[in-house]
Amino acid sequence: NVRVRFAPSPTGPLHIGGVRTALFNYLFAKKYNGTFVLRIEDTDQNRYVEGAEDYIVESLNWCHIPFDEGPNKNEKFGPYRQSERKHLYKQYADKLIASGHAYYAFDTAETLDFHRKDHETNGKTFIYNWHNRLKLDNSLSLSAEEVKARLNAGDDYVIRFKSPQDETLHLKDIIRGDIKIDTNILDDKVLFKSDGMPTYHLANIVDDHLMEISHVIRGEEWLPSLALHQQLYDAFGWKAPEFAHLPLILKPTGKGKLSKRDGDKLGFPVFPLQYVSPKGDNHSIGYREEGYFPEAVINFLAFLGWNPGTEQEIFDLEALINAFDLERVNKSGARFDPEKIKWFNHHYMQEQPNADLANAFKNSKQELADIDINYIEMVISLVKERATFVSDFWELSHFFFIAPETYDEKASKKAFKEGTKELMQELITIINTADDSSKDTMQDAVKGWITSNDIGFGKVMMPLRLALVGALQGPDVFDIIYMIGKAETVKRIENVIS
Ligand code: GLU
Repeated sequence: NVRVRFAPSPTGPLHIGGVRTALFNYLFAKKYNGTFVLRIEDTDQNRYVEGAEDYIVESLNWCHIPFDEGPNKNEKFGPYRQSERKHLYKQYADKLIASGHAYYAFDTAETLDFHRKDHETNGKTFIYNWHNRLKLDNSLSLSAEEVKARLNAGDDYVIRFKSPQDETLHLKDIIRGDIKIDTNILDDKVLFKSDGMPTYHLANIVDDHLMEISHVIRGEEWLPSLALHQQLYDAFGWKAPEFAHLPLILKPTGKGKLSKRDGDKLGFPVFPLQYVSPKGDNHSIGYREEGYFPEAVINFLAFLGWNPGTEQEIFDLEALINAFDLERVNKSGARFDPEKIKWFNHHYMQEQPNADLANAFKNSKQELADIDINYIEMVISLVKERATFVSDFWELSHFFFIAPETYDEKASKKAFKEGTKELMQELITIINTADDSSKDTMQDAVKGWITSNDIGFGKVMMPLRLALVGALQGPDVFDIIYMIGKAETVKRIENVIS
């Protein structure tokens, strides 16, 4: 029974790395007919950001990877916000104290700082474990009465996990294989604080256990926590879930971890949706607002660390679910390539229904307010092949809606030679008398005239195109003529030669 969870902390907008984690969890769950859980890890009240949870939920929905269980949805194992589970955790910390796996510590921030600095000056790193425990202010160095007295006095405390001395831990990761860790390098991590809140580590393990999570799929930055997590499961006598740590996402240059600042600086999105910080200090662009299709985002993200082992690159969600497996996720970092997601977007653009694109285009452009939607839809069918975003449409199609006001200078020089004006006048007559009931009848008339008079296609088609478009680009000239009609075509030819 596969149960996976995405467990973000609502400390800001969901970053593309977070969406990738959510996606891989989603794919794995769907592949094995499992359940995808959303848990909000909001135990750190200092870093809590208003609105972040809504942002996360909206982002998942936009990507079409909704959770099955979570806040306000199928709350079988709820509540799913750790702040609402607060009352649950202390008993587990107490259990670990009773079994000797954890202990109280009373050190002040100043004491810890002092020891850290003191070690540093001697060229050593301070590790809070058996190396130093007895020098410090905790229940392993104090008498039982002293500890009791201090707790009764309401002294600030934390509960720390007691890392064993001289042991080797054998850990397992689906992606990385077997990992050995020497316990002597592990800190006695804080599990619980006297403000009544568990730390991430305790809450995470307790909840994964209570929510019957079978596989923990998360970012590589959590790999260093795996040793503690495995020890916590063992200490509680619980069966641990299986773990899979996803590779880092690297900057476009391939050097270093991708950060949201890379996107801000270089102008590509690293958030699914536009995010405006409540503090007003962050106006990063989002994929949705930039005109990316969720299918493109998903396809792109799937390839950040995973590949199907074949040449195939285009995968919709169904195909991803079928092809995905954790065994095919790489260990090494995945380079984030903003050009690649554009490539995917161009691909998925071709698959969007023209009616949807026409609506989006119409809504995005004042100039189209009074234009018939069917006409816009036909225009879309002619230009979408060259578009990556809906915002490209105007540039690619304005001449279907308004006559050119200026003509590209270089193109004019190229198109207009001696005799061109006269040719255009003749062309007007041809067009005026041609059957314009279809693109083909018009095309036959004009091309027939060109060949039977041995004029040369370029001599006619170039100035004609310039007249219609204002430049030497655009779709088939006869598509344009058919769309804008005979009268408008003639008017534009007259304009260009006047
Ligand atoms: N709350 C952690 C985060 O923000 C969850 C890490 C995990 O999946 O264990 O990423």
